[in-house]
Amino acid sequence: MTKKDVKVELGKFDIYIIGAGISGSVLANKYATLQNKKVLIIDTRDHIGGNCFDYVNGDGVLVSKYGAHLFHTNYEDVWEYLQNFSTWYKYEHKVKSMVDGQLVPIPVNIETVNLIFKLNIKNEGEMKLWFDKNIKKIESPVNSEESALNRVGPVLYEKMFKNYTIKQWDIEPKDLEAAVMDRIPVRSNFDDRYFNDSLQYLPTDGYTPIFNKMLENENITVLTNTKWEDIQAFINPDYEKIFFTGKIDSFFEDKLGKLEYRSLKFEFETFDKEYFQKYGVINYPESNIPYTRIVEYKHFTKQKLSKTTISKEYSTWEGDPYYPVPTQKNRDLFDKYKKLANDLEKNNIYFVGRLANYKYFNMDQAFKNALDLYSELSKKL
Ligand code: UDP
Repeated sequence: MTKKDVKVELGKFDIYIIGAGISGSVLANKYATLQNKKVLIIDTRDHIGGNCFDYVNGDGVLVSKYGAHLFHTNYEDVWEYLQNFSTWYKYEHKVKSMVDGQLVPIPVNIETVNLIFKLNIKNEGEMKLWFDKNIKKIESPVNSEESALNRVGPVLYEKMFKNYTIKQWDIEPKDLEAAVMDRIPVRSNFDDRYFNDSLQYLPTDGYTPIFNKMLENENITVLTNTKWEDIQAFINPDYEKIFFTGKIDSFFEDKLGKLEYRSLKFEFETFDKEYFQKYGVINYPESNIPYTRIVEYKHFTKQKLSKTTISKEYSTWEGDPYYPVPTQKNRDLFDKYKKLANDLEKNNIYFVGRLANYKYFNMDQAFKNALDLYSELSKKL
């Protein structure tokens, strides 16, 4: 397409969606298929699927470009919707953490405590007694440090959570909202699954085909390598709706100040062996190791290969935004941007997704958020 053609094309759509990740793709799919709307969806990256994007690398291994994505949910409507785009197989994610030179289960369970403290706790009752003796009871934890102390006590906090959290966020746990730590359950039984949700599945052929299928519709035009600033001036002035799924502060040109986003850097490496490690994810909570975890993708696929690819995950302040940073300062600034965003609803501009809502959404929450917004807006028709 020449630049001139692009200008002509850009004006012919009903719905404009900025960002082709989960939120944008759901909305594009819904408007195109159920309301026959002409949808333009753009993304700054050179691919769709947002952080769920996966691909087969040069060694033939299916890998996720932006870290492990393990789907889990209790939302029946999200699960039902996803059946349209893939078949899925049951996969219950398990993670080990390297503590004092040995691999222990995380979330903390009976085995974790037995291995670290060289105990022989045998049942839930004994484990509850251990917690009673070892946790630091805090009535209403207000930050991640208090949440961890209250749930696992000071020794496990130091060994498994404190330094990992500092590596991941570059912020002391006491300055992070309790919700960050609360993502991880604590168990008084032997359950070693990472998530509690009733539905835990992975897509048979990876995530990218799901997005291809969602956006495969003659009403949908996808433009990658395209920024909102590139097209803004050329869109249909009588557009019906705009959905923005990028950083909310960027939409407003940072006019109230910049929100913080934590990024990740991935160091990929392929080995000529079937598996590199026994588990899909191993966490490294110790401060002398610079990465937070090593992910081995083959554990999440049905691929049979003599090679395997891993990635070491480093947290950084540079690069693509991945995580909103849940501190009070960011929360206060976001609330101000949210007011500006709410004012734009009268112009049919909506903010949706992890970056635009500045929320640490899991995949299913991002799907839910977009599906709910679609239902809500459709009721107003
Ligand atoms: N966390 C930790 N130790 C671990 C794993 C997680 O302290 O071994 C803390 C850390 O602060 C992290 C939070 O728990 O940000 C949530 O972890 P989760 O695995 O859900 O993070 P994500 O997979 O979204 O990066």
